[in-house]
Amino acid sequence: METLSTMTKGSFLKDEAMAKHTSYGIGGPAKAYITPRDKDDLSQILQFANQHGIATYFVGSGSNLLVADEGIDGLVITLGKSLKRLEITGTTVFAESGVMLGKMVKECISRNLSGVESMIGVPGTLGGALVMNAGAFGGEISNYLKHVTVMKMNGQEKQYQPGDISFSYRHSTFPDDEIVISAEFELIQSDKKTVQEKRSVASGGRKATQPLKFRSAGSIFKNPEEGAAGYYIDQVGLKGTKVGDAEISPIHANFFVNHGGAKASDVVTLIRLARKMVQEKFGIMLDLEVKPLGFKPGTFDI
Ligand SMILES: Cc1cc2nc3c(=O)[nH]c(=O)nc-3n(C[C@H](O)[C@H](O)[C@H](O)COP(=O)(O)OP(=O)(O)OC[C@H]3O[C@@H](n4cnc5c(N)ncnc54)[C@H](O)[C@@H]3O)c2cc1C
Repeated sequence: METLSTMTKGSFLKDEAMAKHTSYGIGGPAKAYITPRDKDDLSQILQFANQHGIATYFVGSGSNLLVADEGIDGLVITLGKSLKRLEITGTTVFAESGVMLGKMVKECISRNLSGVESMIGVPGTLGGALVMNAGAFGGEISNYLKHVTVMKMNGQEKQYQPGDISFSYRHSTFPDDEIVISAEFELIQSDKKTVQEKRSVASGGRKATQPLKFRSAGSIFKNPEEGAAGYYIDQVGLKGTKVGDAEISPIHANFFVNHGGAKASDVVTLIRLARKMVQEKFGIMLDLEVKPLGFKPGTFDI
């Protein structure tokens, strides 16, 4: 770690509480939380971690993460504050993965470019959005994708065409040991009225249905093939159930919110409870949408 801390040109935070880097405000310390200065710095760090067998995890802005109270035994690398280049030329949008998705969406809307406007209000970086195949109100980030560049643990870049990666509902097949560094999109030139209408539907719908006053990681579970996860959790009577400072939101049962002092273990208890009760009553096993980091295998099993 000492060598890594001196070789890193960007920021290197030792034993850094992940609670500071997640929208949940939950999570114990990572051995190191690193923001490389640029691609060269990233390449050196990855090669070092690879050669020394140091466990390495990639995150964006932490808006879809649940990090264990015990923390993460390894390096956490984010590009959220470093790779932020955004260039729009005609209908072609190039963005590095540290660009906030919201910023990219707003820049596209202001040019009347259609394709990403329904994702207004989705928190997080472009890198996180691509890995999660983030989406909202009928649109998904992968829809207008031209190509994506990643960096491998040997420090080399590699480009993927859309057909190389399979994208589905809140899922992509990017390998875990590759970090997304940039992407290019080809959007559609539209007109102000059409783009603004789609944007308003999306942002109005979000405000009406989501408990945005409290910290969360958005939806805890993916919607099953039929019906919405929130519907089933509501049907088993769990809306408003609290464990510690964590609560199954009375507004949206698929949002488990943090009232301030929630621990990851409180959220885990609620997750297991919801899975168990929905499984018993409906025979449906809910799948996590939130990405757990630092937990022992089996933690979420019922
Ligand atoms: C209030 C609220 C509302 C939300 N609404 C929506 C919604 O409508 N639709 C939706 O899809 N999501 C929603 N989310 C979830 C979240 O915003 C998205 O999943 C988002 O795309 C995550 O981006 P991030 O940068 O925060 O990624 P993180 O949460 O940091 O990471 C998410 C995943 O991506 C991986 N990852 C991140 N960056 C990289 C990278 N550069 N290279 C490789 N792997 C990487 C991580 O390892 C992790 O597996 C919501 C969240 C909140 C808090």
